[in-house]
Amino acid sequence: MSNRRFTALKEALSHEPVIVPDMSTKVSEYFGKSVFDDRAMREYLPEDVYKSITENIEKSEKIEKKIADQVASAMRAWALSKGATHYTHWFQPLTGATAEKHDAFFNPASDNRSIEQFDGGKLVQQEPDASSFPSGGLRNTFEARGYSAWDPSSPAFIMDGTLCIPTIFVAYTGEALDFKTPLLKSTAAIDNEATQVCQLFDRSVTRVYSTLGWEQEYFLVDEALFHARPDLVMTGRTLTGHAPAKGQQLEDHYFGAIAPRVKAFMKEFEYEAWLLGIPAKTRHNEVAPNQFELAPVFEEANLAIDHNQLVMVIMDKVARRHKFRILFHEKPFAGINGSGKHNNWSLSTNTGKNLLSPGHTPKTNLLFLTFFVNFIKAVHENADLLRAAIASAGNDHRLGANEAPPAIISIFIGSQLTKVLSDIEKKVKEGKMTPEEKTELKLNIGKIPQIILDNTDRNRTSPVAFTGNKFEVRAVGSSANCAPTMIVLNTMLASQLRTFRNTLEKATSKGEDKDEAIFKILRKYITESWPILFEGNGYSEEWVKEAEKRGLSNLMNTPDALISYVSEKTKKLFEENNVLTEKELEARWEIRHENYAKVIQIESRVLADLAGNHIIPTAIKYQNVLVANVKGLKEILPKDQFETQAELQIYIISKISEHISSIRKDVQEMIDKRKEANTIEEASKKAIFYCNEVKPFLESIRYHVDKLEILVDDEMWSLPKYREMLFVK
Ligand code: ADP
Ligand code: MG
Repeated sequence: MSNRRFTALKEALSHEPVIVPDMSTKVSEYFGKSVFDDRAMREYLPEDVYKSITENIEKSEKIEKKIADQVASAMRAWALSKGATHYTHWFQPLTGATAEKHDAFFNPASDNRSIEQFDGGKLVQQEPDASSFPSGGLRNTFEARGYSAWDPSSPAFIMDGTLCIPTIFVAYTGEALDFKTPLLKSTAAIDNEATQVCQLFDRSVTRVYSTLGWEQEYFLVDEALFHARPDLVMTGRTLTGHAPAKGQQLEDHYFGAIAPRVKAFMKEFEYEAWLLGIPAKTRHNEVAPNQFELAPVFEEANLAIDHNQLVMVIMDKVARRHKFRILFHEKPFAGINGSGKHNNWSLSTNTGKNLLSPGHTPKTNLLFLTFFVNFIKAVHENADLLRAAIASAGNDHRLGANEAPPAIISIFIGSQLTKVLSDIEKKVKEGKMTPEEKTELKLNIGKIPQIILDNTDRNRTSPVAFTGNKFEVRAVGSSANCAPTMIVLNTMLASQLRTFRNTLEKATSKGEDKDEAIFKILRKYITESWPILFEGNGYSEEWVKEAEKRGLSNLMNTPDALISYVSEKTKKLFEENNVLTEKELEARWEIRHENYAKVIQIESRVLADLAGNHIIPTAIKYQNVLVANVKGLKEILPKDQFETQAELQIYIISKISEHISSIRKDVQEMIDKRKEANTIEEASKKAIFYCNEVKPFLESIRYHVDKLEILVDDEMWSLPKYREMLFVK
């Protein structure tokens, strides 16, 4: 068989699991060994420097040059002792990937010997020529410099012999060009506002930070098959492919036994993740065949995001060693569940309290309710912005496709907490409350923890769900950086908490009792926020109608979703909380439109190429076989027999012709549309054009190609089929 598909299949089936080196050592013995963490700092830094740097980090203070020099020299000594030869600032530009530019420690000295150099200056700041990173017009080409600056709150680590220093990345003029800068600013905003609210209840709280536990879904495909699919190579998803006879309907993959080859891959990347201090915890098969999930223990959000970015790099690298390719795309296979990245989010205090975990007393539960209700209110007010944060060309295939949360943002809190909220709404009086009423209210909220423990029903169809002690944002795409979601959650809640505090101050300054005033404000928020709370089936048609009645948006594609990203309301929110300036927001908006248009453009080019160079030639080849067969039959058979015996062949010949001509016509029209699209200058207009005028052809062409796939002789078809890619063990 010379067909490239069969060659690939043969190779795929011959892959044995790579034998994983002995990892019987206890994880605790090597966890974090490649990280310049607290333990390493203690060992390598003088006592006083260690104290001052940890205090600087804890309080997010500026670090003095003298201290930075000492930290740099300790870092260098530590890294050299582990065999590192290079160092790099490691940052997250708006491409979505991570960036690094390695410099050797080694520096030639005058006497022909070399010395290892790395000082505080190099640690703290560098000036990469970054003109090729997306800036959304923020950086003029004549001023191509960008600055990367050390983020001491995320520890440096060694990967493949290079010391990587997590940094932010900003333009020469100070505007953020990365994900981390606004994330750290949103962290400061939520710290500031949430701490003040906590102090209304508990004076010992001096710091609040958001926590993130992501759940990463992904697909594995055999490398040989991957290479035989130009669409996977170029776009990360299959642009054609008929659904296999057996998909996920038997639901036999979810939590099933993990295939040995996959397990070997998991073991190896987990080992690497643990060395880097990434607390990888859970692994399992997902719903779709060849789909899997990795979840770590949650961490402070900034660190969790760095770890997520890092783990994606490691998984990709290790997958290749195991002759797999990992797909982080949100929808690699049509008709098969796509991949998401649940973002479990909560707030923690310096006193070790989770603010979304109810306590055991009415007092602590009032604190819980304050954050719980303010969060709901904030989502209700900023639902469109949250939708914008998660929008991408890939994620558009999932949201609203009856397998992932709908594009309509709503919150699921469970029937018991819904009852708590409606009780508060009913029982809190407008005027002054009697002592009995207050006691009853407090008794009721004292019962919340038991209620939550009993409340185990979980609605998988909701984009945001309260799951006992955290909110789980489920609509995030699997390939996304979690930062945009975290930035929105932190910022909108910070802003909401400020409003809450101001309203409360007004009430108490008029002599109102604090607890009573809090209850009244929360009651008002509850009444206003009911429309965002939804307990039913998010996949249903009724919900779409109901949501519309409630005034909730249903933004089905990225250009539509991005509108709210630069609304006056959004600009005000980000400016007031000092997270992103109007200029920065607009730059991001532009980059995201550019990115969207490019994705559709590439998909469209690849599909046209596949159709022209793979599909149509194959279909014609098979059609010729049929034509020859019909001609032969006509020669040898009497007329009446010929008509019955050649009927099917003639039917297929005409069907193939129909599909070929539809594909030809669509491809030509799509190319014409693309030409038109490329004359549009403005990024947003271009993205809208690609979405409305070019994207529909991807679907119509695919329809005909998939029909051909089941008509054409299997032996001739050159692209690996779904059933082959999805069930290779
Ligand atoms: P599941 O949702 O699968 O039933 P869990 O509720 O145990 O499982 O946790 C799911 C994810 O939520 C894990 O990644 C975990 O780290 C994360 N998580 C748990 N508590 C918190 C928290 N306080 N803040 C952020 N993430 C959390
Ligand atoms: Mg989950």
